[in-house]
Amino acid sequence: MKEISLNFRFKTPYIIKSGFGYAGIFDDTMLRDGRGFLYIPGSSIKGRIRAHMQKLLRSTGESFCSDVICKDRYHLCRMCRLFGSPFVEGPLVFTDSKLTDKQKKFFSALIRKEEGFPFNLDTTGFASTPITRKRLTALKGGLHITELPLDGLEFQSRIIGNISDEDIKKLIHAIRLITHLGGNKGKGVGRLTDEGIKVEVINEIKT
Ligand SMILES: [Zn+2]
Repeated sequence: MKEISLNFRFKTPYIIKSGFGYAGIFDDTMLRDGRGFLYIPGSSIKGRIRAHMQKLLRSTGESFCSDVICKDRYHLCRMCRLFGSPFVEGPLVFTDSKLTDKQKKFFSALIRKEEGFPFNLDTTGFASTPITRKRLTALKGGLHITELPLDGLEFQSRIIGNISDEDIKKLIHAIRLITHLGGNKGKGVGRLTDEGIKVEVINEIKT
């Protein structure tokens, strides 16, 4: 078993929607865990790594299935081997990305803990132009308002699974190509700091 730790910081706000509105103020809100902290689902990270792995394999001329998915579990292409397919479960678990402990400590004073406390103070609102919290309600008429996190949020997550050293190398290469996470990349949101994702193979558990 191998475990890879990922650590990254956003340079800009990111958009990963929960699909829920809030209190007639936000049409879209951010995903939060049971304690109210922002988090990024493992599927978001996995999807972005997957996309970069495809680019990487294309650039090196390594073929992988696209129209016809690998069905023979003993002869899988690297994409199906690492990420699974409709026929084969992938070997890797991508955990949700959680705020670092340092940031959790800071934000625990700013997030909404009970009904009646109107806002999470770790986010702001975005309509056609950035607007201040006080003006949100006034601007509400007809505008779609998305809750956006502050800049500089730092997250950590892990990838756990049993894959070969060669596949680990390729995976890390693909992870290092990531510059953005979340939606609306074209609008400049979801940009990571120039360091990108810091990757560390933190242990190898013999099973
Ligand atoms: Zn395949």
